[in-house]
Amino acid sequence: YQVELEKKGKLQKQICQVVLDHFEKQYTAELGEAWSTVRDVLTSPWCWQHAVLLNRFSHSPGLESSLAEQGYHAAFPAALPYLPAAFRCYTRTAPGRFPAQKHQPGRLKEYYLLNAASLLPVLALEVKDGEDVLDLCAAPGGKSVAILQCACPGHFHCNEYDDLRSRWLEQTIESFIPDPVINLITVSKLDGRQIGDLQPEFYDKVLVDAPCSNDRSWLFSADPQQAVLRLMQRKELSSLQFQLLRSAVKALRPGGSLVYSTCTLSKAENSDVISLILSSCRNVMPVDISGMARGVSQEFSFLVGMQQHELLVLPEKGRAWGPMCFQVAENFE
Ligand code: SAM
Repeated sequence: YQVELEKKGKLQKQICQVVLDHFEKQYTAELGEAWSTVRDVLTSPWCWQHAVLLNRFSHSPGLESSLAEQGYHAAFPAALPYLPAAFRCYTRTAPGRFPAQKHQPGRLKEYYLLNAASLLPVLALEVKDGEDVLDLCAAPGGKSVAILQCACPGHFHCNEYDDLRSRWLEQTIESFIPDPVINLITVSKLDGRQIGDLQPEFYDKVLVDAPCSNDRSWLFSADPQQAVLRLMQRKELSSLQFQLLRSAVKALRPGGSLVYSTCTLSKAENSDVISLILSSCRNVMPVDISGMARGVSQEFSFLVGMQQHELLVLPEKGRAWGPMCFQVAENFE
């Protein structure tokens, strides 16, 4: 019944034609035939899937059996070298959503619902216990929570520029992270472009989950005029992304590494931004992540022909994860 209701609600969502036309032109040129498969998934919200990321700090013994009863299975093969032991995420091929948990002050949530592709940049960051970590653009906090499922950083700085979203981030952290781990976390409201100068060479790991054209949600923009404005201002995003990434490079310790991720298919916001960084910051080198793509190829579909340091998850039916593009670079000085 709930699935039916959800289906109805999503069927009522209207596709914003001006955005679809824009994407059609750009992505046919950039992705060729792959775009038509992606378009079919993105424009059919009733076939979207959700993953369930368990909170290692609080989950009841019955949760995993009730997930199994509903057809969920462990999403990542346990043998993957970069998969931490405590990290548990469940997915199923059938669409629909496991019921969300409400925020209750003083009570930890047991799981976080998300697009499974969002976990790949987090896993690619390979955070280890004791490392100093910066999540530069952190709200609403899905990836911050996921990072804390992987390891216990020495210090974890979660930053979000937008005031309202920063409060959302704080609430997410409160809902998932208990004492004393929560004391390792600092939440700030800085412009991420300034953090590199404020804290140069300070972090072992930096995640730049950049503000981007969120293809999935832009396609359902309720206000076509606002959508047109967004499309016109789209070019400015690349410049913001470049500045955020440059700040992240400055904030990295020698030997540290960063992950840059977006949830758009747009080349201007993905490969072009990282190419510009690699050519303008001589101390960073791309890291080959093609092994990761092979390790998770059962669950995720990737665009073929990318460079070895860049992965683009393409949604397809039954594996409707993404779009999610991510790349890894390290400070080799
Ligand atoms: N990492 C988040 C997660 O997994 O839940 C999603 C981050 S969202 C893609 C990008 C975020 O960057 C938005 O919340 C946006 O408000 C924030 N942002 C935009 N400009 C920023 C800036 N100059 N500095 C820091 N954050 C910024």
